[in-house]
Amino acid sequence: MRAVVWQGPRKVSVENVPDPRIEEPTDAVIRVTATGLCGSDLHLFDHGASMLVKPGDILGHEALGVVEEVGSAVTHIKPGDRVVVPFNISCGRCFMCDQGLYSQCETMQSMHGRKGAALYGYGHMYGGVPGAQAEYLRVPQAHFGPIKVDDGIPDTTAVLLADVLPTAWQAVEYAKVPPGGTLVVYGLGPIGQMCCRIARHLGAARVIGIDRYPDRLKLAAAHGAETIDFTTVDDVVETVREMTGGRGGDSVIDAVGMDADGSLAEKMLQTVKVQPDRMAALHHALGSVRRGGTVSVTGVYGGWMMRFPLGDLFDKQVALHWGQANVRRWTDRILEVLRAGDPIDAAGLVTTEMPLGEASRAYTAFRDKEAGVIKVVLRP
Ligand code: NAD
Ligand code: ZN
Ligand code: ZN
Repeated sequence: MRAVVWQGPRKVSVENVPDPRIEEPTDAVIRVTATGLCGSDLHLFDHGASMLVKPGDILGHEALGVVEEVGSAVTHIKPGDRVVVPFNISCGRCFMCDQGLYSQCETMQSMHGRKGAALYGYGHMYGGVPGAQAEYLRVPQAHFGPIKVDDGIPDTTAVLLADVLPTAWQAVEYAKVPPGGTLVVYGLGPIGQMCCRIARHLGAARVIGIDRYPDRLKLAAAHGAETIDFTTVDDVVETVREMTGGRGGDSVIDAVGMDADGSLAEKMLQTVKVQPDRMAALHHALGSVRRGGTVSVTGVYGGWMMRFPLGDLFDKQVALHWGQANVRRWTDRILEVLRAGDPIDAAGLVTTEMPLGEASRAYTAFRDKEAGVIKVVLRP
């Protein structure tokens, strides 16, 4: 089959690789029909080696497809079913899974002492599982993971159930926006866009979205957010305060993560201190929350951070909640929303569809935030 493989910093190519096959009774193999590029893939694209990605590894963790084959222990799906595959590989029956903390599943073959769910296409720190940007995908723990999707939901919406929609949904839940409250969202990539829309859907009275790219700001505004282009204001935190009666937002989401130019990965494996300028969005998020408010961090961070504003957080009684999305915990509720007419307009998020063969071009366009390129989906 053909698959997108990592070749080195900022270099991917589409290569012929062996077809995946059933290895365990709990496996399935799916034929991939749509597979997304994620902001998390950009951390690998730039810094893969230090995140234990090896040249030749298949990338990608967002898959929609059709079941080809299932192992003997897989009974809830069968060949021919249309399924979406959560990006974290969880067993559904360990201590952590029982609590809905699927990203912390205890069954992963851990390297470097790490416990938690393995991920598709995310390097050997996360299990070294071949990724979803390919014609076929081996799905471990398929007795639990894959979710059947109704025919009425279009491919470009359904594929968002693998990551974007549950990640944004969790970020909003974790932000605990009080009824009628104000949510501030840093970063208006696919995740931030959906945070804005889901928050409004769940009752936030105001959403303030912050980014620098006009098309991203415009899209958030079209869905009811007030926006700030942070490059046009002297002090973005002060601007947020001015817009919120001097207090700051009731809740703030960081949907940016570590600066793409910061070497996230080198820091993840070593205990190297990270300078605050690599964490601008997190610092701004912490500054933008009102006293007694909540900061929900869905952007990815690693390493140790210098000059974390402990005094300010203590004084303001700020609650912090963060981490990888527990995908399966939210997908049933999101499916209900999609079936009820898609009021969050998830169908409108995918701006760019490309054939698998154009993966290299797709990565560059997404990484460089080319105008109009917000969510990219490859169609094998
Ligand atoms: P993206 O790269 O498309 O979007 C990030 C946006 O942040 C960009 O539009 C960029 O212009 C903006 N930005 C950069 N610095 C900023 C700043 N200082 N202030 C405000 N905006 C700023 O990525 P995405 O796909 O939307 O993903 C966003 C983040 O979420 C990434 O870090 C990704 O790794 C992470 N993520 C986490 C999970 C999870 O499970 N927690 C799942 C998916 C993605
Ligand atoms: Zn992702
Ligand atoms: Zn588990």
